[in-house]
Amino acid sequence: MPQTADIAIIGAGAAGLAASIFAAKTNPSLHIVLLDGAKTIGAKILVSGGGRCNVTNQKVTASDFHGNRKIIDRILRRFDEQATIQWFDSLGVPLKTENTGKLFPVSNKARTILNALLDECHRLAIPLLTQHSVQSISHEGNRFSIHHSQGCLQARQVILATGGRSLPKTGSNGSGWLLAQQLNHTVTATCPALVPLLLDDNFFHAHLSGISHDVMLTTRVKNRIIDRRTGSLLWTHVGISGPAVMDASRFWILATEQGDQPQIHLNCFSDSAPQEIEQWLIHAMSLPGNKTIHGLLTERLPNRVVTQFTQFLEPNLARTPVNHLPKTMRHNLVQILTNLSLPVIGSRGWNFAEVTAGGIPLTEINPSTMESKKVPGLYLIGELLDCDGRIGGYNFQWAWATGHLAGSHGALDTHREKSQKKE
Ligand SMILES: Cc1cc2nc3c(=O)[nH]c(=O)nc-3n(C[C@H](O)[C@H](O)[C@H](O)COP(=O)(O)OP(=O)(O)OC[C@H]3O[C@@H](n4cnc5c(N)ncnc54)[C@H](O)[C@@H]3O)c2cc1C
Repeated sequence: MPQTADIAIIGAGAAGLAASIFAAKTNPSLHIVLLDGAKTIGAKILVSGGGRCNVTNQKVTASDFHGNRKIIDRILRRFDEQATIQWFDSLGVPLKTENTGKLFPVSNKARTILNALLDECHRLAIPLLTQHSVQSISHEGNRFSIHHSQGCLQARQVILATGGRSLPKTGSNGSGWLLAQQLNHTVTATCPALVPLLLDDNFFHAHLSGISHDVMLTTRVKNRIIDRRTGSLLWTHVGISGPAVMDASRFWILATEQGDQPQIHLNCFSDSAPQEIEQWLIHAMSLPGNKTIHGLLTERLPNRVVTQFTQFLEPNLARTPVNHLPKTMRHNLVQILTNLSLPVIGSRGWNFAEVTAGGIPLTEINPSTMESKKVPGLYLIGELLDCDGRIGGYNFQWAWATGHLAGSHGALDTHREKSQKKE
């Protein structure tokens, strides 16, 4: 077990693996040690993107993230999506772009990504110490003492890559924030993000379980819109999921945690405003024939969605001929289909969250290097920081970009420090 290192990287998730590879490539003579509390490495990479790992996106900009966008932009520019594509290509992993803009390994297997990263660490002879859970870090002079579950390691530089709290069974349990706080960093309020939401048991979601369709979701606090988005919603036995819901979840959760009472309104027609649906119904009522409400609505919505929504309003509504629809019922139908307040009672929490909202403020790091402004020689990267991306490969791009910056600059600084000592 090494007792000293030039650079200790704590956390061997996406960001930590990237940092160690870039540090070793920048200066192969450095002694780099990668520590992780988990028994097996890369559990989160393996489950990502439904087991396929959505590595990045064809277009990544700061507006795809929440946090200090000015700083996020500066960081992303230094290692962009093209750099990620080239880097994985150099590791023998070609990526393919799907029509959603998401990039995946051609193999369609997250295992290909993890193996490529681990093989590269092995090739660069970086010791990867599993079951080394770091409990405290102290900094004296220009040395860090890292106390972990198997002893103590001294290092000139530390790269903290311990993630947030999403999916804690993979090893990211929030302990990294405590380590950063020991070193004088602050941590903003944190909450699960990109997480499915729970609906009140009395609602009809369970009858729609497994159905997904395009919707528009609007989140409001005291009638003020705080988020609006279109995308796919998936009904589940306990509530709602799918990309649109996952992306919207942070707004509902953050507002709730701040003591507000946010409301999420559902428009089943992702591309039409209520007035347009009203006009569509009025037009349909003027046409000859005896098409039922069910027959009309299923032209644009899934069968079971129509059944549940109309039943919710009035049991016989589905069978009513369109041209017999009373005006008040038409109004109510438009209201429920385009502006239904969903009875959200909570989220599925950290065990189902893909990422963490909040973390160490980006103002506490130097965006050109990821070095701490408070402790020289300390670098902070990945999900640990107050930056979370939307669904689509953005969070991994953040991990690769911050890992690249910290690894290459940490290596250069250590090299400079060592050379100065020799002189
Ligand atoms: C189910 C799921 C699917 C996802 N899919 C995608 C996707 O397809 N595309 C995308 O862009 N993003 C996706 N994400 C998000 C993405 O996985 C994360 O943003 C990214 O992995 C964060 O990387 P990280 O290295 O910062 O943290 P993590 O991956 O969380 O790694 C942190 C590491 O630090 C270790 N650690 C923590 N504390 C300590 C300690 N005290 N001592 C030692 N080691 C410690 C942990 O064991 C862990 O290995 C998904 C997330 C989940 C949960």
